[in-house]
Amino acid sequence: MPDCSLTSARLVTIVVGLSAACAQPPPRGAPPPRLGFSSAAFEKQRDLEQRFRRSVSADELGKFHAMVTRQPHMAGTDGSRDVAEHLKRTLADAGLAVEMIEYQAYLSFPKTVAVDIVAPVAEGLRVTEPASPIDRDTQNPRLGPGFVAYSASGAVTAPVVYVNYGLPDDYAQLAARQIDVRGKLVIARYGHSHRAVKLHTAEHAGAAGILIYSDPADDGFVRGETWPKGYWRTQDQIQRGNAKYSWFWHGDPLTPGAPAVQNTPRQDPASVPTLPRIPAAVLSWGEARKILERLDGVPVPPGFQGGLPVTYRVGGGVVRARLRVQMDDGLRTIRDVVARVPGARQADREVMLGTHHDAWTFGGVDPGTGTAALLELARALGALRRGGWQPQRTITLAFWDAEEFGLIGSTEYAEDRRQALRDGAICYVNTDLYMNGRLDAGGTPSLRDFLVQVTQDIADGGGTVYDGWRGDAGKKDLKSLGSGADFVPFQDYVGLPTLSLELNATGGYTYGPYHSNYDTRFFVERVADPGFQGGAQLVRVLGTTALRLGEAQILPFRFSHYARRLKEFIDTASTWGGGEDRRGMAAVDLTAAREAVARVAAEAKVVEDRIDDRLATSDLPTSTIEHVNDLLARLEQRLLDEDQQWYRHVIYGWNIYSLYDGQPFPGLAEAMRARDAERARKEALRITAAIDRLNAGLREIAELLRT
Ligand SMILES: [Zn+2]
Repeated sequence: MPDCSLTSARLVTIVVGLSAACAQPPPRGAPPPRLGFSSAAFEKQRDLEQRFRRSVSADELGKFHAMVTRQPHMAGTDGSRDVAEHLKRTLADAGLAVEMIEYQAYLSFPKTVAVDIVAPVAEGLRVTEPASPIDRDTQNPRLGPGFVAYSASGAVTAPVVYVNYGLPDDYAQLAARQIDVRGKLVIARYGHSHRAVKLHTAEHAGAAGILIYSDPADDGFVRGETWPKGYWRTQDQIQRGNAKYSWFWHGDPLTPGAPAVQNTPRQDPASVPTLPRIPAAVLSWGEARKILERLDGVPVPPGFQGGLPVTYRVGGGVVRARLRVQMDDGLRTIRDVVARVPGARQADREVMLGTHHDAWTFGGVDPGTGTAALLELARALGALRRGGWQPQRTITLAFWDAEEFGLIGSTEYAEDRRQALRDGAICYVNTDLYMNGRLDAGGTPSLRDFLVQVTQDIADGGGTVYDGWRGDAGKKDLKSLGSGADFVPFQDYVGLPTLSLELNATGGYTYGPYHSNYDTRFFVERVADPGFQGGAQLVRVLGTTALRLGEAQILPFRFSHYARRLKEFIDTASTWGGGEDRRGMAAVDLTAAREAVARVAAEAKVVEDRIDDRLATSDLPTSTIEHVNDLLARLEQRLLDEDQQWYRHVIYGWNIYSLYDGQPFPGLAEAMRARDAERARKEALRITAAIDRLNAGLREIAELLRT
C-alpha cells in the first residue's frame, strides 16, 4: 500500500496500484496525463524516465559497439560463441539475471563457390571482396567469399539469361518474348523481394541455377554517394544472405513449431519445403558487369534496364557460364542470450525487447548498432536497479543468434517458450539495426497511441522524437510488419503486440556495406552514426517504452486505433479483384468484416473511457486490474488462427513479392493472387471471425470495468 510520506525513489519501487488515496483525484472524466497511469502515478513515472534518459551515454554505447564488432561472428562459428559469452558477462556485470540458451540449428556454410564465364571468352569471376587499405577490418584473413546460405550444392554450365528482379512478372514478360529459361543459368538483380523469392521463382521456372547481383540503379552510384563517403554500394561489395523459403515457416528449416534441441525430430533436408533445390551465388556489380555487357539476344523488356552504362540484353545465346557451389550444411550450436530485470509485483509478466548478435561478417551496422543499443539499455537499467528501483513487471532483453540464417534464434525461443509467452508476455519490441536518422516505427496498431505519447516526451534537437518520426504522407502511424527481423515469430506465431523501433537514414536498409565485408565499425564511425548520438537517442526511445510498459497501472493498449486500421485494410482489400483487376476475379465481399470492425470501434471506445475513468478515480482492486491487464495483453492472440501451423496471424503477414513489407490480410491476398475465388470467400469469413473474437475480448474487459 503506498504511503504518502515515502520518497519518490522508494515509491516507485512498490506497488503503483490504483489505491493512490493520498493523491487528490482529478475531476471525474478528465483524461489521465498518459495512457495507463493516474496523474499521481505518472508524476513518479516521469521522474524515473527522466533519470533513465539522462543516464544514457553515447560513449558507453560506442564501447559496446567496439566489443561486438571486433571480429567476424557468423552464427555457428567460434566468433559467434565468443560474442555470446561476452554478452553474457557484460549483462551479468550490469546487474541483470542472464540465461544462455543453446539450440542445434541447421546452418549452411560455403565450402566452394565459383563462377566462371566459359563463352565467348574464358574468364573467372571474383566471388570474394577485395580488401581496402583504409579499413583494416576488410583485410581480415577470416573473411570468406560471398555466398547464399541454403543454396543447393551442384554445378551448372549453361547459357545465361537476364531476368531483371527475377519475379513472376519478369518471367511472364520473358515468356511473352519466347524466352525459355529452362535449363539456363539466370542472372537477377537484387531488389523488390527477398532473395529467397528469386531462387524459388527461378526454380519453378525451370532454371538450373541463379546468380544475384547488386545493380547500381537499386543499390549503388545511381542512387547516391558510395562508400566510404556515403551509404551506397561500391562495385566490389557483395550482398550475402540466406535463401531459406521462410514463408512456409521461419526459424530452423527442419523443426517447424518445435525448438531445435537435441531430441527434436528433424524433417529430411532432401524433401523439406524450406530449402532451395538449385545452386545460387551472389556477385558485386563489378563482376556481374562482365556477364551483362556480353549478353546478346533481344533488347530487354521495359523496366529491365539497370544502372550500368551498357544496353541490357536478355541473353540466352553466346554467353555461357559455369556455377559451382558446394555447401557445408549441418546442425550447429547457436546461443541466445536473454537477460532480465525481474519485476517486483509481477515477475511472470514481461516486457520483451530483442535484437540479434550474429552477423554475416563484422556486423558494423547489422547488427552491431542494434546489439550495442540494447547493451547500453541494459547498462542504464542495471544502474537504476542498483539505485533501488525495480520494475513492476519483468523487463527482458534478448540477444538472438542466427538471425541472418532466417530468424532462427528468436524463432526457436518462441517455439520453446510459446505457452509462457502467451501467458506472460506483454509486448515484444525489436530493434535490428539503426543508422542515425529519423524514428522508423512499425508494429501493432493497439500500441500506436502509446508510442505517440512516448515519442512526444523525448526531446530531440529543438523538438521531440515524435516530430522526426518517419510516417507515410505525414501520418505518424506504425507500418505493418512483414518479415526481415526477429519480431516475426512474436507477431505471427505467438501473437504478441509487437513493435519495431529503429532509426532510418536516407538510404533505408539497402545501405551499401549491408551483408558485405565492409559492414564494419569503420563505416559506422564514418557514415552510419559518427559519435553514436543516434544510438543514444534510440536507447532513450527503447528504454522509455520499456519503463512505461513495465510500470503502467493499466496496460496502455488502445483498440480504437486498431479498428481504424482494420477499416483502412478492408477498404483497400475491397478493391482487390473487380473488373479492372488483372487477377480477373470478382471483388470479394467484406461487408460482414466491415460490420465487425464497427462493433470493435464502439466497444473499444467503451473500454477506453472506462479505463481512463477508473484511472482518474483510482477505485479498482488489484485483482481486477491484473485481470484486465491479462485480457488486454492477450487480445492480440484472438486475431490468430490457431489451426494454422506457423503463420497464424489473420490480419498480418508477409508480402514476399515486395521485399519485407507487411501484408494486411495475408490469406486473402494470397487467395486473390492465386485467383481462387472459393478460398477468398473463406478468407473473408476467417477475417470476420477473428475480428469478432477481438470484439468479444473487448466486451469482457468492458464488463470488468463497469462501475
Ligand atoms: Zn540484422
